[in-house]
Amino acid sequence: FAAIPKDYPIPGETTVYDTTQTIDLDAVPLNGGFIIKTLVLSVDPYMRGRMRDPEIKSYSTPFKVGAPTTGYGIGVVVRSEHPDVAVGKYVYGGELPHQEYTVLSSAEGLVFLEKDPELPWTVYVGAAGMPGKTAFMGWKELAHAKKGETAFVTTGAGPVGSMVIQLAKRDGLRVIASAGSEEKVKYMKEIGADVVFNYKTTDTAEVLAREGPIDVYWDNVGGDILDAALEHSALYARFVICGMISGYNTGHTGIKNMHQTFSRSLSINGFIVSRLEPKYDTEFYATIPRALASGEIKYREDVSNGLETVGDAILRVQQGKNTGKAVVVVAEE
Ligand code: NDP
Repeated sequence: FAAIPKDYPIPGETTVYDTTQTIDLDAVPLNGGFIIKTLVLSVDPYMRGRMRDPEIKSYSTPFKVGAPTTGYGIGVVVRSEHPDVAVGKYVYGGELPHQEYTVLSSAEGLVFLEKDPELPWTVYVGAAGMPGKTAFMGWKELAHAKKGETAFVTTGAGPVGSMVIQLAKRDGLRVIASAGSEEKVKYMKEIGADVVFNYKTTDTAEVLAREGPIDVYWDNVGGDILDAALEHSALYARFVICGMISGYNTGHTGIKNMHQTFSRSLSINGFIVSRLEPKYDTEFYATIPRALASGEIKYREDVSNGLETVGDAILRVQQGKNTGKAVVVVAEE
C-alpha cells in the first residue's frame, strides 16, 4: 500500500507490486510459528474503506502505508513448529497479507477448512466465504421474509447480491434486481430474479413505482437508489443495509426520503458479517458449499492470476468492471 487514494485506487500510485523483499523459506526462523503459502486472495469493495487516513475511525482497521494490503484469503501450511498447525493444512483468514508467503506466530483468527472435492479453493473466499456469508447471514438475521413478498436487491450480479437473489427466490419472494451493465442484467435473470434492470440506463424510482412497493430492500449501494427504495417502500418494510458503494470513492450523497422511516413504520438495520459469524457459521458451512457444488445455488467468479494483478483487481471492483466474485489466484497448491 503506497499512498492513500484521492478517489479511485490507482495501481502504480495507490498500490504497487513490490518484488524487492524475499525470504529463504527453509532458513527463516519460525520461533514456534508456521509459514503459509498463499493460494487465493479475495478482492472486496470494503478494501477501499481501509485505504484511508488512519485518524478517521471506522469498523475496519486502516491499511498502513508502506506495508502490504491484507484481506480474506486461503493458504496452505508449508513449514510449522506450532503444535496445533500441521504442514499441509488449509487455512482461511480475513487478514492475510497480500504476499506469496507469510510467517505467523499464532493461529488465532484462522479457520481450518476441508474442501468439498467438487469446488475449487477460489469459491471459499466467495460464495462459500465472506460474501456468501454476508448474504446468508444478513438475510437470515434481518430480512424477516415472507412468501409472496417483494424484495429489491442492488448489485444483484455481484457475489453478495447474486446470493441474496437466490435466497429470496428460495423463500418464495418476487425479486426486483439492479446492476450496472446489460451483461449483468442478463445474469440476474438467469439466476432467477423476476424483474431486472440496468440502473445506469433506467430510472430506479420508475421501476419501483411500477413493480413495488417493496417489502425487503437489500442495500449494497446507498445514495439515490436507497432514496428511491425509501420512496417506494411498503408499510412495515425491512431495509437490510449491507453496503453503500456509491459513496466509497466519491463521498455520500444526502438522503431526501428519511421521513418514510416513520410514515411507513420501516425497520432499517445495518450489519457487519463478522459479528454474525459466531451465530451462523456452523449452519453456513453445513449447507452452502454443498448447495454450490450441486448447482442448486449458482455463482460466478472473476479470476485473475498472479499477485501482481491485485492492485488492478481492487480498482476494477470499485469501478464495477468485475463480473462475479473478484479473486486472485496467487499459486497452485
Ligand atoms: P461486487 O463484486 O458486486 O462489487 C461491487 C459492485 O458495486 C460493482 O461491481 C458495481 O457493479 C457496483 N457499484 C460500483 N459503484 C456503484 C455505484 N456508484 N452505484 C451502484 N453500484 C455501484 O461486491 P460484493 O458483492 O462483494 O459487495 C456488495 C456490497 O456488499 C458492497 O457494498 C460491500 O461493501 C457490501 N458488503 C458488506 C458486508 C457487511 O458485512 N456489511 C460484507 C461484504 C460486502 P455495477 O456494475 O452493478 O455498478
